[in-house]
Amino acid sequence: ADFTVLCCGGGNAAQVATGLFSIRYKTIAVSFYADEAAKWKAALGDDDFELTLPGGKVVKSKPHDITNDPSVAATANVILLVVPSHAHGEYFEKFAPYMKPGTIVACMPARSGGDILFSSKLGDKAKDMIFCGFETLPWACRFTEWGRKATILGTKNNILAAVSPATAKQAMAKLQGLLGVNPWVQDSPNNLGISLRNPGMIVHPGVMYGRWGPESWDGQPKDESPLFYQGVDEFTEKILIEMTDEAQAVARKAEQLVPGLDLSDACTLKQWYLDCYDGQMTDTSSLKRCMNTNAAYDGLKHPCKEVDGKHMPDLTYRYLSEDVPTGLCFAKGLAEIIGIPTPTIDKVMIWAQGCIGLEIMVDGKMTGKDLDKTRAPQGMGITTLPAFLLASKIPALL
Ligand code: NAD
Repeated sequence: ADFTVLCCGGGNAAQVATGLFSIRYKTIAVSFYADEAAKWKAALGDDDFELTLPGGKVVKSKPHDITNDPSVAATANVILLVVPSHAHGEYFEKFAPYMKPGTIVACMPARSGGDILFSSKLGDKAKDMIFCGFETLPWACRFTEWGRKATILGTKNNILAAVSPATAKQAMAKLQGLLGVNPWVQDSPNNLGISLRNPGMIVHPGVMYGRWGPESWDGQPKDESPLFYQGVDEFTEKILIEMTDEAQAVARKAEQLVPGLDLSDACTLKQWYLDCYDGQMTDTSSLKRCMNTNAAYDGLKHPCKEVDGKHMPDLTYRYLSEDVPTGLCFAKGLAEIIGIPTPTIDKVMIWAQGCIGLEIMVDGKMTGKDLDKTRAPQGMGITTLPAFLLASKIPALL
């Protein structure tokens, strides 16, 4: 049978990935979101999808089908999720009954804890499947005509990805073949490293708290939307450093508790900037200066809504509504399991959960009623290190 790829989602990234993979493989686009699949199929009709590559070359291709039928998973060799992370669980759950052993399921980007969510949704079947978490999306991309045309603005040179179980290295080679020469997929030892590396879980909630939290904002509208990265001040930097240090403490303690566990990719936020934006920052003397002087962030503003000509923050934007549940909750949940105190993460989380209307922490503990809407291990019934390692497919010498 043909090598079959499912490309899941219907936004910018999913349309681009579908266009790209359809050039060489039997590619089926799948969206479970509302009537998106039917709309997309109608928008494309009998025409080819047009993808503009960096440099301006246009390539045409045609997906084999565009559907909301999960049973197509039965034919899949690779299932790629290129949707915002809050939607991952729904795809895992709906595909689970159909997937054949050995299917590779890759998330781009995975954010944090995608591997344990996968195990929890697939149950017994998870042991026969391969999960792959990518640290980011390889492309900066936008559709230009919904469902019909899209543009890849840029492709990253290299990105980190990990497979679970770690023995499934052949999966990485298949994914590299799918992506082509760019980006180069760098093999990270395990998905826990990818999860704890997730910069968005620190940067987005941390900068939002630094600007709009009770310690720095009077609740009054602003004349302009403040700059997000260039506007990072000393107070926000302090919050970010405390959060990243707490996440580091979690990673280092996990390494101590599990001999042989390599979490070297779970680096500090500053190190992540040095790794990913080398040469684009004019001053790397501090975390604040890395963020203030990064050319890639030039002019990016805080998410705001206009109210009577003034600007109020959008405290339900994905910087809180995605990065807290599928990022920070994972790190905090693991911290609790292995006994690492995280006072600053707690402070940010307690503020953020009010903004996004979720009950995550109660009396300083990960016991809120909405935990199952997050990647906190506790929300999947995981409250001990052995249970966590089992779900992560990390063979532990415990
Ligand atoms: P997008 O906002 O275009 O995705 C929208 C799609 O998400 C929808 O079309 C639908 O398929 C799905 N969706 C939205 N709400 C849903 C819901 N409630 N339930 C189920 N599905 C829902 O996002 P994108 O640009 O395609 O990006 C996908 C991921 O990649 C995101 O995590 C994004 O942060 C990340 N990313 C994107 C870029 C980029 O250049 N586009 C760059 C870096 C990272």
